[in-house]
Amino acid sequence: MAETTEPGSYFVANYPPFDRWNENAVEQVFSAFDAVATDAALGLYLHIPFCRKRCKFCYFRVYTDVKAADVERYSDAVIHEARLVAAQKAVQGRVLKYVYFGGGTPSFLSVKQLQRLVGGLHESFGWNEAEEVTFECEPGTLAEPKIMALKQLGVTRISLGVENFNDSILESNGRAHLSNEIFRAWDWIEKADFPSTNIDLIAGMVGETTESWQETVETALKLAPDSLTIYQMELPYNTVFVKSSKDNGEAAAVADWPTKRAWVDWAFDRFVKAGYSISSAYTLVRNSKNVEFRYRDMLWEGSDLVALGVASFGHLSGIHYQNKTHWDDYLAAIDAEQLPLVRGLVAEPRELLIRELVLGLKKGSVDTARLRTKFGIDPLIEWSEIWSELCEKGFLKPIENSNSPTLTRQGLLQVDSLLHQFFDK
Ligand code: SF4
Repeated sequence: MAETTEPGSYFVANYPPFDRWNENAVEQVFSAFDAVATDAALGLYLHIPFCRKRCKFCYFRVYTDVKAADVERYSDAVIHEARLVAAQKAVQGRVLKYVYFGGGTPSFLSVKQLQRLVGGLHESFGWNEAEEVTFECEPGTLAEPKIMALKQLGVTRISLGVENFNDSILESNGRAHLSNEIFRAWDWIEKADFPSTNIDLIAGMVGETTESWQETVETALKLAPDSLTIYQMELPYNTVFVKSSKDNGEAAAVADWPTKRAWVDWAFDRFVKAGYSISSAYTLVRNSKNVEFRYRDMLWEGSDLVALGVASFGHLSGIHYQNKTHWDDYLAAIDAEQLPLVRGLVAEPRELLIRELVLGLKKGSVDTARLRTKFGIDPLIEWSEIWSELCEKGFLKPIENSNSPTLTRQGLLQVDSLLHQFFDK
C-alpha cells in the first residue's frame, strides 16, 4: 500500500468487485426475481440521488441542480418501482427486516415530498416490523418539522453527515453545510429522541491538521451520539479533486495513510475512554446503549437487499445486481413497467464465502465456525498462509484455538488494504 494518498480507492464495498459485474447476468437477475427466494432476511435500500452541492471528494451518482418537479418525477418512479419489485415471486409476502434511505441526500426532500414518497412505498412494502429504519441527513437540509416528520414516518436510526466541524475545512472540501447548521440540527435531533443517532466523520479531509482533527473529535464527543462512523479520506477517480488535480497539475492535499490511521487511532482511543466500543474499522458505539447496525450486519452476512432508485445496488438469492445508472434510462425502464436492471453477477458459493469473510473482517473479527457451517469450507484452513502472514506482520492477534481470527488495532485501521489477498485471482 502506498503511503501517500494517491487517486484511487482501497475501500472494499462488496465482493466480487464491481468490475466483474456485467449486463449478461441481467437475465439471471430477472429469473431470480421470478423464482421463490431463499429464507434469507430481506432489506430495502432506497437511493435518493439529490444533493444541494457536489462535495469535491464525492463519486456517487448525484444530481445537484434539481427542481421540485424532478423530485416528484423521481419519487413517482421509485414508488412505481417498489410496486414492480413487490409483485415479484421472490419478494411477495416477505417481511422487511431493515430499511435504509441513502444517497445522495435523502433529507433533500421536503416534508411533503417525504410523506408522499413513504406513503407510496407503504402501498407495496410495510416496514412496521423492520428492526431498523435508517435515514441519512445533511445538516443544512434539516428543519425541526422535518425531523419530527422523520420520526413519525418510522425512522429509528438517524445519521447526520457531519464529516468535520471546521468551517474552513468543510468549505474547502465542497460540503454544502457549515458547523452552525450541524449544531442547530443536532438540538432538534436530540429533542426528537430517536431510538438511535449516528454522526459521520471523515479523517483526512483536505486542509485537516492534527489539531483540527482532534477538535472535531472532541466536538463530536460533546454531542454524544449513540454511534459514530469514521471513514479515512480517499480520492476516487471521478471526483472534483482528482479531475482538478489533472487539470492544474497539483494533487489534492490529503494527509498520507499513516497520518490518517494515526488520527483514527487517536479518535478510537478518545471515544473508548469516553465509554464507547469499537464495533468495526469505521464505527464506534456507546456502551450504555444497546446499539446495533442491522443494515450492516444482515447485509454483510448474506441477507437479500431490494434496491430501489437510480444506480442502486441490490442482492437477491446470491446474485448481485445494480439498477440503471442514468436518470433517463432508469425512468424509461420504469415507464415501460420493467425492473430497471443494468448489470449483475451470479456469485459462486465460494465467492459468497469470500464476500462474507472479507466483509466480516471489517468488523475486526470473523466467526469462521459460522462460515464453515454455511459454506462447507473452513476459512482457517483455506487461507492458512494469509492468516499466518497477517499474524507475523502484527495485523492479526495469535489465532491459537480460536474460531474467530481477530485483527489488532493496526490491522483494523488498514483493513481494506488487507482484504484483497483473500480474493480469488
Ligand atoms: S452529500 Fe454525500 S452524496 Fe452528496 S455530494 Fe456530498 S458526499 Fe456526495
